[in-house]
Amino acid sequence: MSAEKTIAAVSTPHASGGIGIVRISGERSLAVADKIFRTTSGKIPSRSKGYRAYHGRVWDNEEVVDEAVCLVFRAPKSYTGEDVAEISCHGGLYVTQRVLRAALNAGAEPAEAGEFTKRAFLNGRIGLEQAEAVMSLIAAQSDTAAKAALNALDGALSGKIRGTASSLIAACAQLAAWVDYPDEDIEEIRPENLKEVFARAKAELTSLLDGFEAGRAATEGVNTVIVGRPNVGKSTLMNLLSGYERSIVTECAGTTRDVVEETVRLGGIVLRLADTAGIRETDNPVESIGVGLAKKKLELAGLILAVFDGSDPLTDDDRRLLESCRGKTVVGVVNKSDLPRSIDLDYIKNMTSRTVEISASEGEGLETLVECVEHLLGTDRFDPGAAMLANERQRQCCERASRRLDEALEAIDTGLTLDAVNVCADAAIDALLELTGEKAGEAVVNEVFSRFCVGK
Ligand code: GDP
Repeated sequence: MSAEKTIAAVSTPHASGGIGIVRISGERSLAVADKIFRTTSGKIPSRSKGYRAYHGRVWDNEEVVDEAVCLVFRAPKSYTGEDVAEISCHGGLYVTQRVLRAALNAGAEPAEAGEFTKRAFLNGRIGLEQAEAVMSLIAAQSDTAAKAALNALDGALSGKIRGTASSLIAACAQLAAWVDYPDEDIEEIRPENLKEVFARAKAELTSLLDGFEAGRAATEGVNTVIVGRPNVGKSTLMNLLSGYERSIVTECAGTTRDVVEETVRLGGIVLRLADTAGIRETDNPVESIGVGLAKKKLELAGLILAVFDGSDPLTDDDRRLLESCRGKTVVGVVNKSDLPRSIDLDYIKNMTSRTVEISASEGEGLETLVECVEHLLGTDRFDPGAAMLANERQRQCCERASRRLDEALEAIDTGLTLDAVNVCADAAIDALLELTGEKAGEAVVNEVFSRFCVGK
């Protein structure tokens, strides 16, 4: 793509800091740099071979704005694949905006959200799923998430998907030749060979799809609710979890997920904890609104920590709670294990995915709770070094490809023409190339980049 516009934006967060970076990209980026940046050495940025840093001052018309360093990158070896100037100035809110304004006054235009990375994609520097990995890296809240994103940026997923797609493309090319040139001396296609290729591709996609939920849980965290009747120890558990290790919440628009009251890290997983209004029968209208909301949160939760007081027999409210958790991923947390047990533990075990005994006030049993949650969500088997589907878009593409392969296999089994088999396999390839962005429509591409922050 030859960029018709030269774009500029502040690429660092909108906050005070040691350094702020204004990035300028496009055909005229170095001409813009020439206008606003006077190097101490007298060198001219646009005459630079690139990959050089120049000390100097930023000027807006005849006014000095800041003392800064200008980095010059030459196309195609830059982040966007275009000529790029990056001005590292002082990181004040005002100064970065002034440097940006100088660039805009010199002919650059404001960059849209994600536009630098979009250009990298359109210029063939990175695949669509690698662009998404950039976003995941920015949003990463844990070591696991950062490692998985870096791995995707290195092309782990694209390598795997391209490998699968190429085996299908080779098979389809042979199919097409056979269908289109029946009179030529082309090696006959044996259905069992085709089936083997499709089945192998399908198995690869299935393994990616199977790891999706665990990967998401490990990298993005899980919507979690802590529920239980009053006084069972929910707040005490919450405090214990919060003290365990508090996670970071990012502020970059488009990278934050749902608004949450608290995020805590439990072992390797980030739990996004929703509020803990109890679920009980009530005549109080105000309280019943709270209970209704809590029930809705239960429905949306990826993980429920249902807390009980182990020193008390089960109450009707406890049973109702267990009833409303049916079919969900729920850990029965039987609290107050430091006191003599009166609760019917087997009843809870029967109604939950896993049950753990803890003493929240004494801090006992937390390790077991961590193991139990990691096992339940599959994150203990998650390998951040392996290829993984990072988001719903990628999952849908993969699932579509897998369905089309099923159809292709079925077409062979039911004796349909090779032409029909070819159509299904072709559709599977299309879905895979949409995942990597090689065959993604404009709407898909725009949707992906609209979720980025400005400056990235
Ligand atoms: P919530 O209403 O469910 O949030 O319950 P709280 O966390 O406020 O706890 C209710 C009472 O139980 C408080 O007096 C806590 O100190 C006590 N408590 C909480 N966890 C434990 C525990 O593990 N052992 C004992 N013995 N008491 C606990």
